[in-house]
Amino acid sequence: MTTISPDTLPDGLSAEARDFISQSHRLLIGDARPEAADGRTFTTIDPATGQDIADVALGGAEDVDRAVAAARAAFEDGPWATMPASGREKLMNALAQALEDHAAEFAQIESLDNGKPVGLAQFVDVGGAVAHLRYFAGWPTKIEGAVIPVNAPNMLTYTRREPVGVCGQIVPWNFPLLMAAWKLGPALAAGCTIVLKPAEQTPLTALRIAELALEVGFPPGVLNVLTGDGTTGAALVDHPDVNKIAFTGSTAVGREIGSKAGRALKRVTLELGGKSPNVILPDADIDAAVKGSFQGIYFNSGQACNAGSRLFVPADRFDEVMSQLAAAADAAKLGPGLDPETQLGPLVSAEQHERVLGYIDAGREEGAEVVTGGDAALGDTGGYFVSPTLFSTTSDDLRISREEIFGPVLVASPYDSLDEVAARANAGEYGLAAGVWTRDVSNAHKLAAKLRAGMVYVNTWGAADPAAPFGGFKASGIGREHGHDGLDAYLEAKTVWTAL
Ligand code: NAP
Ligand code: MG
Repeated sequence: MTTISPDTLPDGLSAEARDFISQSHRLLIGDARPEAADGRTFTTIDPATGQDIADVALGGAEDVDRAVAAARAAFEDGPWATMPASGREKLMNALAQALEDHAAEFAQIESLDNGKPVGLAQFVDVGGAVAHLRYFAGWPTKIEGAVIPVNAPNMLTYTRREPVGVCGQIVPWNFPLLMAAWKLGPALAAGCTIVLKPAEQTPLTALRIAELALEVGFPPGVLNVLTGDGTTGAALVDHPDVNKIAFTGSTAVGREIGSKAGRALKRVTLELGGKSPNVILPDADIDAAVKGSFQGIYFNSGQACNAGSRLFVPADRFDEVMSQLAAAADAAKLGPGLDPETQLGPLVSAEQHERVLGYIDAGREEGAEVVTGGDAALGDTGGYFVSPTLFSTTSDDLRISREEIFGPVLVASPYDSLDEVAARANAGEYGLAAGVWTRDVSNAHKLAAKLRAGMVYVNTWGAADPAAPFGGFKASGIGREHGHDGLDAYLEAKTVWTAL
């Protein structure tokens, strides 16, 4: 494994973050830290400069086999298998506390690896992950079965709710630690064991949190981490001893995983893409709607599955809303995530940069008007920046109106009536989120009921809580994370019949 000199890391990193990043990053299986069986590695980069920051082990099928065996052993025997619910609660709270104690370090690592503003990383990614672990730490002691009043006389019939077993968890690069925490929380609460596969673009915080889990006392094998690429993920999905796959990422890979899980009859939950409509009604507080819609799309540089990427504006307010949004976009400060002044960081990779710029070209070619932005930015830095971009069009049939771009690109259209806009908002294959801006309570809730989306935001965008279900209708996924629903996805019901 080559070692990248810590001297090439950017200034401004704390000693803790610098030390962690400059270690050699091997797999984490049980309590061992092996190289990949075939010795392969890959490099993770700083998207603000394109510079390498760390070499990381690339797990293959043999490593998947070892990690699944470690997870199986921890599930079947030993301290985790016999631990009382309150023991899981205690460990999960200890992990949440350790993460909170290391919040600044995690935020810096995430900011450097993903490109996102460090303040956002600390508040949303790390803060959200801590909150998630704490919320799910409350669940182990509340997982109950029921006594069922069956017809047969002299029969005791009760249910047990048991962990599904070994879980393969595959997460994306847009909120690396947070997406991992969304999956670890319910799995640990249920008593499952885990093989976690972070995205190749952002492998570092998954390794760091698994180290902390061992430090606070999780038994080896409960949480294993396999860094790698799509082939690592595919081998995990294919492994016959994995009981459940939880995936967040693209709809294309989600379809593939869903069909494999279907054939193998594995449990599966999928959080996939979106093309979420955001509707401003004529009576809305326009200033609040513009501010919220701006955040709704440009937050995390548009790299959010629930980004509000389609905006519908009443025809007679359209020009006013466009000019306010354009002014806000032009004022946004782009820069490296570690610069505390940065509002919009780079996209995560050269590939995403190219993909998003390709969509912008396609939008122009298909006749949409670029109101502002529409190009690469800060080109001399070597980073993958795209200026916040606003398109205006009357068509819903353009590629930029239908496909998930996953970048700072908003497509706005005027509309005339409520019925028209509801139908247009519901068109398309996705159904993750939708938004309504209005002062009219009746219209707000009529539209909320009509919109085919897993989350509807009224006079806000992107609100989330560990207790509130998150997930999509239609091609945006299967199942829900967070809350009761999120926990249920890691439990099997068993009915026990006893003739008395
Ligand atoms: P992706 O390929 O779906 O990646 C998501 C995760 O799945 C990563 O850990 C990835 O590993 C892994 N993976 C890739 N191929 C796999 C396979 N065949 N079997 C099992 N796991 C596999 O997403 P991407 O290519 O990074 O991004 C492409 C587009 O996906 C984005 O432009 C965006 O539209 C969408 N996306 C959506 C979300 C979301 O939150 N819903 C998040 C990210 C991306 P590696 O990354 O290591 O290859
Ligand atoms: Mg990186």
